[in-house]
Amino acid sequence: MKELLETLVRESRALAPGGACASYIPALAAVDPGLVGLALADGEGHLFEAGDSRVRFSIQSVSKAFALAYVLEERGEDAVFSRVGKEPTGDPFNSIIRLETSRLGKPYNPMINAGAIVVASLLPEAVAGSGGASEPSARAAGLRSFVGRACGRGSGDAVTSDETVYASERGTANRNRSIAWFLKELGLLDGDVEESLEAYFLQCSMLLDAADLARAGSLLAYDGVAPWSGERLLAVRTARIVKSLMATCGLYDGSGEFGVDAGLPAKSGVGGGILAAAKRRCGIGSFGPALDPRGNSVAGTHMLKRLSAELDLFAL
Ligand code: GLN
Repeated sequence: MKELLETLVRESRALAPGGACASYIPALAAVDPGLVGLALADGEGHLFEAGDSRVRFSIQSVSKAFALAYVLEERGEDAVFSRVGKEPTGDPFNSIIRLETSRLGKPYNPMINAGAIVVASLLPEAVAGSGGASEPSARAAGLRSFVGRACGRGSGDAVTSDETVYASERGTANRNRSIAWFLKELGLLDGDVEESLEAYFLQCSMLLDAADLARAGSLLAYDGVAPWSGERLLAVRTARIVKSLMATCGLYDGSGEFGVDAGLPAKSGVGGGILAAAKRRCGIGSFGPALDPRGNSVAGTHMLKRLSAELDLFAL
């Protein structure tokens, strides 16, 4: 297995210059576009890795899958889906247009920015240890500890957010601000708009590595039971909802093409990460910050397509 992963990393290093790092969040443009990492976590809790699988990066939109799982567990389906739909858009991840033109009256799904900002507004505050923290910080802290558990991190290895990336996005987020204020106008955001945005930027700047994403993918692949401990961390229904929306919307307007070629539920982020789940087989985490025009990792999509073909992981 390790050899296969090494081969795919080698192939992808040759492809990486075919894309460029995201630059609309200025701090992301400073990341080395040649980094490539791949990790696979199997059903027995084993981890296989190659390349830069332990380089931490900001997970950006991969956080949308974690936040959705957490809010579904904490608040239930109605709280989420009364305010966000379950349908793909075929539009870019940061598109605003359908908020006004659609009769749905809410964002199409939780994997685009509009839907994810609504989900971030529903994040519960961390119960303990947040004394004195601002509301968005307390909400992000709750999500970070959930993400730590979902990635099988030890209690001493807490998930952190990248302050530079956070500040960089916060200072340049005119489009997300526009989306959030429009959501407020539609009655979909309770409370302070800036606080919901803060929670969203904090979740996007969480730092994980490909090995973390692989373990979290294996948690989804086994419908909420952690293969490394046998413990149930998510309801079956939660895992299935998240995977279904990953399959249809996880790579935005590239979801259909990726589905045809890789056949896996997956979630990408403009930090270069992708998390994928192969039902009752394994979780896969990839990292490669050079992106295609839709904002998906060039190396990551290549490696996942190849891995799915090599190991026959097609779920669809
Ligand atoms: N934080 C990014 C944004 O809101 C996340 C986008 C992404 O990863 N596709 O624009």
